[in-house]
Formats: sequence, C-alpha cells, structure tokens
Amino acid sequence: MSANKPKAVLMFGPPGAGKGTIGAMLCTAGGHFHLSSGDIFRGLPPESKSGQLFYSYANEGKLVPDDVTIEICWRYLNGLIDTNKFDPSKQLLLLDGLPRTANQAKLIEEYVDVEHIIVLTIEDEEELYRRIGRRGKIEGRNDDGDRAIVTKRLQEYHEKTAKVLEYYPAEKISKFSAEQAPVEVLRDVLVGCSDLLK
Ligand code: ADP
Repeated sequence: MSANKPKAVLMFGPPGAGKGTIGAMLCTAGGHFHLSSGDIFRGLPPESKSGQLFYSYANEGKLVPDDVTIEICWRYLNGLIDTNKFDPSKQLLLLDGLPRTANQAKLIEEYVDVEHIIVLTIEDEEELYRRIGRRGKIEGRNDDGDRAIVTKRLQEYHEKTAKVLEYYPAEKISKFSAEQAPVEVLRDVLVGCSDLLK
C-alpha cells in the first residue's frame, strides 16, 4: 500500500437498502471508485479455498471472519492500485459493505482514512425482504432467495454492523432515507454531501 492512504467514504445500511445501487451511481456521477466487499467475495472462484470459505458463511447469512475479509479485500484493493484502475491520489474510495464489525473498523485504519459515513436508513423491514427477493430473482444470488438467510443477514446487521457507527464521531455521519426511488436517494446524498463528493 502506498504511503498516502486512500480517502474513503463508507456506505452503511441494512442488506437491501441500496448501498450498491447508490454507490455505483455516486461513482459514475463524481468519478469516485466504488468497492463492494460482497462483489469481491462473489468474484472469487467458487472452487477455490477462499471461495468455498466465503460461500460457507454467506449461504447461512453469516459474516465472513474479520481476518479473512480484511486480507481478501486489501489484496484486491492493492491490485486495483497496482494496475491503475483506482487512483487514490485523485479518487475517493466508496467502501460498500466494509467495515461490518467494530474490529474491521479498527483494522481498516491501517489502509484508508475514513472521511465520512453515508448511512441509508429504512424503517420497513418487509420492504427490505421485497427488494432482496426481487434481486435474488434477477441475479440468482443464493443468499437473496431464501427468507431465513435474509433474516440472519438482517440480524447480523443489527447486532454487529449498526453498532460500528458508534466508533465514528457524529459529525462524520450523514443519514438518508432509502425509502424512496434510487434517483431520489441519490439526489438527497448529492445535496447532503455535496462538498465531500464534488
Ligand atoms: P448485502 O449488503 O445485501 O448483505 P453483500 O453483497 O454486501 O450483501 O454481502 C454478502 C455477504 O458477503 C454477506 O452476507 C457476508 O457473508 C459477506 N460479507 C460482505 N462483506 C463482509 C464484511 N465486511 N465482513 C464479513 N462478511 C462480509
């Protein structure tokens, strides 16, 4: 990793809130770099040792252990920098799905400077199930197609990930309602974080 740590904006929110959708749109709109831990994991060859390990957790709705998560994601990030796909001197890193535990929040400090946290909120849990169910049909994701797995993922979010927000000072956190159309959420985030994202 270079001496200059990438500046990172963290995307938080329960599964189905739209972190991936909004993250991708923000990157297109602002030239930032969107990095999703879930996408990195799903890109692992399923037959590889790390791929098998990932699916053994994800197919039960559980989080992958912290050490494995950090190692895989930072190896991937270094690869992006080494191949000039991501330029930390010019681009913000939008981290989607990482950190997901208090321990990960501490561990990533070695690799990135966390500038801000964008939290997508949703009150209606049934809406999350509906969204995830739709995505499961489109993308064929095993962990999206099964209500019991989704319930476990939501439980992991409430028990482990939501608490990570306590690790950061309140002035670094901006919350937005994700109970609107993606373009409306995007508008709110762009307006609310315009200085950061321009
Ligand atoms: P979602 O946000 O909809 O739950 P993701 O694609 O972000 O979906 O994550 C899918 C799965 O990948 C998670 O259920 C978990 O098993 C694993 N995962 C992703 N990010 C992390 C992380 N930071 N720490 C541990 N496990 C992770």
